[in-house]
Amino acid sequence: KRSLLGESGIKCRPQQNIIAMATASKDPVTEWILGEGGAMKVLRTSSVGGGCINVAYKYDTDAGPFFVKSNRSTGPAMFEAEAAGLEKMWETKTIRVPKPLKVGTLPGGGSFIIMEFIEFGSRSSQADLGRALGEMHKASTGQSPHGFGFFMDNTIGSTHQPNTWTSDWVDFFREHRLGFQLDLARRQYAENTLYEKGQKLLAKLPELLGGVEVAPVLLHGDLWSGNVASDKDGRPVILDPACYYGHSEAEFGMSWCAGFNSSFYEAYHKVIPKQPGFERRVEIYKLYHYLNHLNLFGSGYRGSCMSIIDKFV
Ligand code: ADP
Repeated sequence: KRSLLGESGIKCRPQQNIIAMATASKDPVTEWILGEGGAMKVLRTSSVGGGCINVAYKYDTDAGPFFVKSNRSTGPAMFEAEAAGLEKMWETKTIRVPKPLKVGTLPGGGSFIIMEFIEFGSRSSQADLGRALGEMHKASTGQSPHGFGFFMDNTIGSTHQPNTWTSDWVDFFREHRLGFQLDLARRQYAENTLYEKGQKLLAKLPELLGGVEVAPVLLHGDLWSGNVASDKDGRPVILDPACYYGHSEAEFGMSWCAGFNSSFYEAYHKVIPKQPGFERRVEIYKLYHYLNHLNLFGSGYRGSCMSIIDKFV
């Protein structure tokens, strides 16, 4: 999906077509749909474009449509983490997300996720999106069982995202977000200068992120325009999350790819009041995603990383 960002130049990897398997009796997707899924018959399968990491299908059945993503080269952990994130967001009963239904493995290798199929409609208003996102953050306040982190690690793009439970937000963000990506940049691309400067920024994080009350809230974690849609009633929908419990402001780390306007932020801040220093902290939260883009797509993102680090070090 991130190829949509242009600069990356990354190509979606073609994967083996699983449609042929859809009618085979041993296909676990069809088996689930015809069993627990409550359908008598799969009427049609059609491929859904737009993703990059996985292949996606719509399964039309007599019991309605199902959305299926599969990946021939990964085990079920990635989809289990996606399902856990969707489930937690779904449980807040605030913003619409597809209900996850089943994760399993494919014969011959790979895995799949089945979820509710959402019929998309015209774009909802930015204000509705801001309000619904704020409501999700608000409803999940106090719900985290162990502070900052998540029940399992997940992926951000295709990068591993560690979610080890941590009681202190600054510790979590230093070690499992910025620190993790800086290490990766040094190992993968020998980004030694960036790494060294980054370490100085890490040392200043208590000062830069501190001075504000932080409670863990459930974050979508990868909120950019490619992961936002609307259902046919015009309600906002968010998809393809990288969920964890974190500072609400960290949700805006991908805002440079999201096109949020002032009515979005106004509506959001009516639900989650804006704290002094919001813009400065969001710059730091953006750095995490710029570093991830550097690690995913290479040096085209070095300048954006450096300019944020230079601003604060
Ligand atoms: P990937 O994991 O490869 O990034 P996405 O989650 O982006 O895949 O999904 C691929 C495509 O399927 C996108 O165009 C998205 O809009 C669409 N899509 C995702 N989830 C659903 C759903 N629950 N119902 C209908 N379409 C969906």
